[in-house]
Parts: sequence; structure tokens; C-alpha cells
Amino acid sequence: MILRQFTCRAVVNACTQARIRRLAGSREMAKPSSDLAAFRDFFAKAENIAILTGAGVSAESGVPTFRGAGGFWRKWQAQDLATPEAFSRNPSRVWEFYHYRREVMLTKDPNAAHKAIAECEERLGKQGRKVTVITQNIDELHRRAGSKNILEIHGSLFKTRCLSCGHEEANHKSPICPALKDKGAPDPNMHDAQIPVEQLPRCERAGCGGLLRPAVVWFGESLDADVLSRSHEVLDGCDLCLVVGTSSVVYPAAMFAPQVAARGVPVAEFNMENTPATTHFKFHFHGPCGTTLPAALANLMELEKKKTKGFFYFYWYSVLKLQSC
Ligand SMILES: [Zn+2]
Repeated sequence: MILRQFTCRAVVNACTQARIRRLAGSREMAKPSSDLAAFRDFFAKAENIAILTGAGVSAESGVPTFRGAGGFWRKWQAQDLATPEAFSRNPSRVWEFYHYRREVMLTKDPNAAHKAIAECEERLGKQGRKVTVITQNIDELHRRAGSKNILEIHGSLFKTRCLSCGHEEANHKSPICPALKDKGAPDPNMHDAQIPVEQLPRCERAGCGGLLRPAVVWFGESLDADVLSRSHEVLDGCDLCLVVGTSSVVYPAAMFAPQVAARGVPVAEFNMENTPATTHFKFHFHGPCGTTLPAALANLMELEKKKTKGFFYFYWYSVLKLQSC
């Protein structure tokens, strides 16, 4: 089973990288620039900005991903539990895992990158310009930072879907149900709570009572068609695209920015490392996005005002000082 999952992921990643290479080949791209002033020129003129975000933007808030070395909950990683098969085999264990992740999120806060994006959306919105966040993250930190225009392509930890009636709704309860209270500890020696299925989160719609599942996109599932088509609309209409804290290897999100770049729209990547797509983006800003992004999206008018104010204070201070001498 594990072998099959890794094989599938390896094939998907190989396909994605081949497509990226084809797109890159279709358009000669120079080495990406890290010239912030040149980026600001594009940013100042852009009317529709798409911002793609991934795990890297939340990592700075301390949000665990349960992937890669050391990324375990008990003895499992996300790809072992975040599947429809795992949920149908053991809904209690999968709910413990998600309950733990929801509770952890209550202790985390949006970081400077989330705030810079939200502040940019609000500021540009007043000028009739549009910023849309397309995120792979399920932690709602963009929403908590104040972003409004968000497409969560992998769903949300704080939404549930009923397996009987299909109803999907926001759910921020803590704990999500009494039986999960104090459950979900990640210790590798911890035993499953084996909560009876009737005590797991249930649909509260009149006459339903069906079993709820987290409304997130699990491994092996398709993205929501409506969210995907809205994302494509945003990407087709944007005149500037930012890729923030995403490794650009998970399909289909990995194809979004290369497709934008292929039609000649500037793409700026903010990441800790180069990715398979970096070479055909216009800009690459290396470093923690909590540092690089606020500088890139800062309100220049405000900065200019502050500088001007500073100059006047300095001027009057100098005049008074001279007079007092
Ligand atoms: Zn229901």
C-alpha cells in the first residue's frame, strides 16, 4: 500500500516536472532576477494579482505538515491517514489525527507573510485592484490574517462534510465533539482511542445524523471542480502572479504558475529554496517569506510619507538646535 502511494506520487511528480520542462522549453526564460525595485515596478501597475501559497508560508507560524523526516503523528505520516481508505477503515483514528491538528491550530497565529498579503488585498481593493489567494493550506491562517478573497484548493481543517447528505459547513468547535476531548495525542506510544462511530462528529441537519468527515482533499481525491475552475479563471486573468512557500511539485497546483509564466505574465517566487519551476519565473526571492514578502508588498506611499515625516522632524530639530546654540 505504502509502496503504491509512493509510486503514484513519484509518477505524478515526474509527469509534473516533464510538463514544466515542456512549458519552459516553449518559452526562453532568463535566470530569475532578485531585483526588488524591478518587481515593485510590475507590482505598482498590476490590476489582478494571483498569490499561490503553500506549506512554506505556514511553516513560519509553526504549523506541522506531518510529511518528510520526523513528520509523524504516532507512527503515521499524513499520506497514511489522509485517504478515503484510511477513513473508512478507521474513522476514529483519522478523526483523532484531524482533531489534534485543529487543536494545534488554535495555538498558532498568522505570521508576517499572511499579514502582508491580507493588508495588500485591503489596500489594493480600495484602489479597485484585486488580489486573490489560491492556497494549498488547510489551516485558515490567511482568513485569520484578514484575507477575504481566498480559494482553498485543498479544503479546510475547519470545515466538515456529511457522508450521508453531502452538506458542507464551517466548524470551529473545540473539541469538535465530546468524545474527542483530550484525544489525539501524537506520542508514538499512544494507543487509538477507538471511539464508536456514533460518537464521532455527526451531521446536525434535521433528520440526517450522518457521519461527518473533514472537508479536506485527501490523497487520491480530485480537487473540487468549482474551486478549480475559479482558480483557473483567476490565473487566466491575472497580470502578476506570486508563488509563496510552495515547492511547486504537487500536481495540479504545480502547473498553475508555469502556465501563467508561459503566457508572458511575470511570476515572482518567494521561497527558501529553488524549485523545479524556478528557472522560468521572472523573479525569485530567496529566504523566509515572513521577511521577503512584507518588503515586496509594502505600501511605498506609506514608506515615502514616513521618510518625508522623518525628514521634517530632522529639519525642525536641526533648526531648533541651531537656534538654541
Ligand atoms: Zn447530513
